[in-house]
Amino acid sequence: MNAPCVRVPTEAGERTRTRLAEADLVAEDLDIVVEDGDLYIPVTDPDAVPDDLDVVEHDVPERDTQTTPADVLGFEPSYERLGDVVILDEDDPARAARIADAVMESDLRAKTVVNRASKVKGETRVRDWDVLAGDGTETVHREYGCEFHLDIAEVYFSPRLATERHRVVKQVAAGEHAFDMFAGVGPYAIPMAEAGADVVAADINEEAIDYLRENAERNGVAERVTAHCGDVRALAAEYEGWAERLVMNLPHTANEFLDAAVTLAGDDCVLHYYDIQHEDERYAPGEAAIRAAAEPEYDVDVETRHTVRSYAPHEYNVCLDVRLTRR
Ligand code: SAM
Repeated sequence: MNAPCVRVPTEAGERTRTRLAEADLVAEDLDIVVEDGDLYIPVTDPDAVPDDLDVVEHDVPERDTQTTPADVLGFEPSYERLGDVVILDEDDPARAARIADAVMESDLRAKTVVNRASKVKGETRVRDWDVLAGDGTETVHREYGCEFHLDIAEVYFSPRLATERHRVVKQVAAGEHAFDMFAGVGPYAIPMAEAGADVVAADINEEAIDYLRENAERNGVAERVTAHCGDVRALAAEYEGWAERLVMNLPHTANEFLDAAVTLAGDDCVLHYYDIQHEDERYAPGEAAIRAAAEPEYDVDVETRHTVRSYAPHEYNVCLDVRLTRR
């Protein structure tokens, strides 16, 4: 922004800045700029500047006065943000508590700080959390223009998958039939509906389906989203041959649902199959399982072999985009 500044040669800079600071004239919310051998020191009141100093208008940036957790701690902590919940992954409880205090003391907009207390577990893939500061694990998270209301103590949600979800959603065409077999609170289903698809979303977690329905309303796509609570295998007969796109985001056990996926698939269907495998054989087990379930009824064409992220030492979360074409 343009602001009144005292212009002095750099060699006189510190002396002049001290003189102006003593007179309480330095504009603390603006940064000093060095340009072509001159220093531009922004001032609060140009009329009060001593006459022997040169005052000019100059473009100077606003100073970032936000206090970060790193400013408080003296080191850069790692954390993730899910709406106004801050998520830590710390093994040492004392270090976790220090980071939580620093987050709350900083200017980060945080309501609650939690630490991972277990792996994701059981059928619903929800993990335990230690609430270290603040309270309440419910939040509204924004991702690629959509809003998701959720409670991390009740449902699965990983902000780390945002880019991957977007990669899939970009492939969706208006009017297509998309079936999200393990939908959670809707981070695939809702943007797919926003892209114009007719979406059926299933999840076995009742809380997740309640949030998904609310999120469909919240994002204005409720008329294109049909949500079902229960084991997706029980829905397969009802939607036999309906799907032109299937999302199977249940790594570790998606292979157990491939028969249901093939029942759901229409004559031409793209399957997004998530898996977790060893680095040496990331895609082959998933591809073999899909072929075993879909051939010879379908031609199986693997369009993309995509590594989503590292999951554990030597293990990767991958996605196979596979086109099934009825023979
Ligand atoms: N797709 C969502 C996302 O990206 O956040 C959720 C993915 S989470 C890894 C897997 C989801 O599958 C969980 O919400 C879980 O409740 C659901 N699930 C597990 N078994 C299921 C089943 N048999 N039928 C339907 N949903 C199931």
